[in-house]
Amino acid sequence: MAIEVENVIGEETTQRIEMEKDGKRVVILGGGVAGSVVAKSLQFHAHVTLIDPKEYFEIPWANLRSMVEPSFAERTLINHRDYLTNGDIVTSNAITITETEVLTADGHRIGYDYLVIATGHADPVPKTRSARLDQFKEDNQKIKSAHSILIIGGGPTGVELAGEIAVDFPDKKVILVHKGSRLLEFIGEKAGNKTLKWLKSKNVVVKLEQRVDLNGFTDGQKIYRTSNGETIEADCHFLCIGKPLSSAWLKETVLKNDLDSQGRIQVDEKLRVNGRGNIFAIGDITDIREIKQGFLAQQQAEVVVNNLKVIIQGAGECRMETYRAHSAIAIVSLGRKDAVAQFPFLTIIGRIPGFIKSGDLFVGKTRKQMGLKHDIEQA
Ligand SMILES: Cc1cc2nc3c(=O)[nH]c(=O)nc-3n(C[C@H](O)[C@H](O)[C@H](O)COP(=O)(O)OP(=O)(O)OC[C@H]3O[C@@H](n4cnc5c(N)ncnc54)[C@H](O)[C@@H]3O)c2cc1C
Repeated sequence: MAIEVENVIGEETTQRIEMEKDGKRVVILGGGVAGSVVAKSLQFHAHVTLIDPKEYFEIPWANLRSMVEPSFAERTLINHRDYLTNGDIVTSNAITITETEVLTADGHRIGYDYLVIATGHADPVPKTRSARLDQFKEDNQKIKSAHSILIIGGGPTGVELAGEIAVDFPDKKVILVHKGSRLLEFIGEKAGNKTLKWLKSKNVVVKLEQRVDLNGFTDGQKIYRTSNGETIEADCHFLCIGKPLSSAWLKETVLKNDLDSQGRIQVDEKLRVNGRGNIFAIGDITDIREIKQGFLAQQQAEVVVNNLKVIIQGAGECRMETYRAHSAIAIVSLGRKDAVAQFPFLTIIGRIPGFIKSGDLFVGKTRKQMGLKHDIEQA
């Protein structure tokens, strides 16, 4: 079967690479938590092409630790080539799709038999692993050189960052401002209240129901104004507000009618885009009614891997797996030893949930899932 990767930048430079390979062409959009699992698991069952604007997979829930301890990122940023040894990698954003091919921002046109959309959230991070490592070093320097730090946003990112700084740098003044009436609104009220108490016990100043006005803010300015008219003095700030879904680019494509009002892709129980036999969607981008979590995105990826194997082998639809939404489980780390956890009938805070997540932040486990060693071998 002919696999086509056509570079369409400019007429002069147009070139066509044709690769003769056996097997169906599976194109995966997004090399995040969900897409990387599909790419890794299908690479010896189909001709896999992974499209991602970064050359590496990053473990998102480890990023806040990497800001206080940049060397932590050595294990959490994994080049796609380390786990995808038998597939093509295109380092670019997908910008449109048709019934048969994907077009990328750098001008590649890639034909597919099966498409898996796993573009999660739009997060403009550097293209190379080394540039991303440098970014964590810069963030770390920013934290170290500040006496007072303003964190804007009281969702999981803002709370986890506040916890990391409060535990590793107890002498810094940390102020967390959140627009909502409670922290961690993606989970229950109990978790938010317990977290507020914990942060206060670490001398973090939490201001709820206020927005920080960054309009016209200039670097070096140390006075921040809030929607209540308050002023906050801080040496630097970190913006930890939710990132938009990376689905806006689908609005002008063949899938434009498959997005819900929030831009989520509507999928059936086999995780196919509604009414389509060869396009799947997984992870945060889907309209599945459950808390958006990486471990669920990985489970969805496993379901799609199985279902694609079934289709590729020509077995009947009855052999396909069904994905069922899960109840609300989430663990938010609070520094290196504590965490707050919400389980279906229980919300707890402290060392027990901390023991589950906060030490290694599931990094060793995730590396193992990707077929890699727990630690990086030193050269
Ligand atoms: C602070 C924090 C803590 C968390 N803690 C946990 C936890 O403890 N446990 C847990 O299970 N989950 C946790 N989560 C949630 C988890 O990170 C997400 O649910 C998970 O990352 C979703 O995976 P995904 O593959 O759908 O999207 P992502 O992991 O966001 O990956 C999306 C990928 O798509 C790429 N992409 C975007 N647009 C395009 C495009 N146009 N073309 C090609 N590629 C594109 C991106 O570069 C990225 O690689 C946490 C999240 C945060 C923010």
